[in-house]
Order: sequence, then C-alpha cells, then structure tokens
Amino acid sequence: MPMTVIQWFPGHMAKAKREVQEKLKWIDVAFELLDARVPMSSRNPMIDEILGQKPRLILLNKADMADEAVTEQWIRYFHDQGRLALPIDAQSGTGVRQIAAAAKEMVKDKFEKMRAKGIKNPRPVRALIVGIPNVGKSTLINRLAGRHIAKTGDKPGVTKAQQWIKVGKEMELLDTPGILWPKFEDEDVGYKLAVTGAIKDEILNLQDVAVYALRFLSTHYPNRLAERYGLDDIPDDIVALFDAIGRRRGCLTSGGAVDYDKVADIVLYDIRTEKLGRLSFETPASRT
Ligand code: GDP
Repeated sequence: MPMTVIQWFPGHMAKAKREVQEKLKWIDVAFELLDARVPMSSRNPMIDEILGQKPRLILLNKADMADEAVTEQWIRYFHDQGRLALPIDAQSGTGVRQIAAAAKEMVKDKFEKMRAKGIKNPRPVRALIVGIPNVGKSTLINRLAGRHIAKTGDKPGVTKAQQWIKVGKEMELLDTPGILWPKFEDEDVGYKLAVTGAIKDEILNLQDVAVYALRFLSTHYPNRLAERYGLDDIPDDIVALFDAIGRRRGCLTSGGAVDYDKVADIVLYDIRTEKLGRLSFETPASRT
C-alpha cells in the first residue's frame, strides 16, 4: 500500500503514543479529532488504550464536506457507545463554539470536587487535541485561539516548548496537538484516507485511488456521479466508466485514446472540492 511511504515505523508509533500520554497528565479532557467523512478510518487504532479513562470529546471535523445524514448516524453511533461527538468545521468555525461548553460539562464532577475542597475559582479546563495528520488539528487550534498559532501541516516528532492557549475565560488548550497514526494495515482505510486527501498525492497511484473512489460512488452515490459527468447510466465495468467520464470531459491523448491519469485527476479533484456534493465514505453500518 502507498501508506508505507509515510514515515511511521513501530518506533515512531511508540514515541507518538508516549508523547500523547505524557501530555495527558496536564489536561482534563482530550479532543479526539476525526474526519467526519471517514470517522473510523481517520481514527487511531489504539486510541482507547492511549487515552485510557481521560474524558474525551469526539469532534467530527470537516463536517462541511460530509454527508449530513451520515454524520447524524455517526453521532448516534458514538452516543450509543457513551461518547459525545460534535460535528464541526474548523475552517469556517461552524460548531467550534460548542466545544468549550461541552468540555466543561464533561469535567463538571472533577471541578465540583475541587470546589468542594475549597478552591473557589478553579482554573480553566485544560484540553489537548489529538488526531492523525491532516485531520485539521492546526486549523482547529488556530480557530479556537482566534489567531494564528499552529502552523498547518506541522510534521510529527518536532518538539518545542509547550504553551497554553487561552480559549475564552474557561478553557486552555495545549498549543501542540497529539499527532497519531492511522490504521495503516487496512487497505480499505488507506484508500479512504487517500480519497479524502489525508495522504499526499505524490506518493500515491492516483488511478488506483480513483478506481476505489468511482466504485464507491457507483454504489453509494450513483445519481451524483451520473449528474456530474452527464452519464445516462453508470457502467459496471470500471474501465468503461473511466472511458465514459474521459470522453465526456475530453480527457483524450493526442491519439484520441482516453487519458486515464487525467480522468483520475479530475475525479479526485471533483470529490475533494465538493463538485459531487457532500460525501461520506463510511457509515456506522459499513464499519463498526
Ligand atoms: P493537521 O495536520 O491535523 O494539523 O491538519 P491541518 O489543520 O493542517 O488541515 C489539513 C487541511 O484540511 C488543510 O488544508 C485545512 O485547510 C483543511 N481543513 C481543516 N479543517 C477543515 C474543515 O473543517 N473543513 C474543510 N473543508 N477543510 C478543513
């Protein structure tokens, strides 16, 4: 799988886990950031072990790009597991205001105990964002801070002094997020992360990713596919589908054959820029 090109090795994973766990002692609540379009695939496979009993708020980021009905299903799914999940769009800020209130509610008991011990004005609730690369951690930190703090696209493993960022009066956030690895060993997960842009295109075979995406869309969103590319029906055969889209969009080589690389580019670009509308690539029923 293309994922092997990402520099995550067992040693890196152990280090990432250790780094997050070291930070846990400083915080009251962890924000587990997931991609709303692929909540399971964008989840660290060891997250329960890593976070342990630490109160956790799940944030389904990029909800602006996800299928709203499916996001609702995910929220119910997490609710049934006893976890609160909020849909957010860190880029525009939609839903972000609910985070501090939800975090405060989650640690209410702990803070009430502090008050019972005589601490009149307990400190702000302290939080840490954790998530896989590209899920939107830096964007969310900047959004919560109300100014530019975190560089988007920061690399894992780069350490610097940690600071608390004030989020209103009642919350503080660690300025460096916990960067965790996705579930590399699952090919299906790899494709979903690739389709949603969580893995850099340079290291991927885009035709493979587009094949995966088109098969998925043919099954789950056939009308969107037909409408976008002006197709009367969706061919079952994947090459025929590439051909049909290629001809409609004029992706032809000088010899008049369909240029499959170009078709792959167009399809992935269209998906990632919402030309096919808001899409979710997994549901609780398909991945539990
Ligand atoms: P990080 O690696 O987890 O820190 O991810 P970044 O914050 O660098 O975000 C990765 C990409 O996702 C950037 O291009 C962001 O602009 C984009 N992004 C982050 N949050 C959202 C969101 O809620 N909606 C959309 N549409 N894009 C987002």
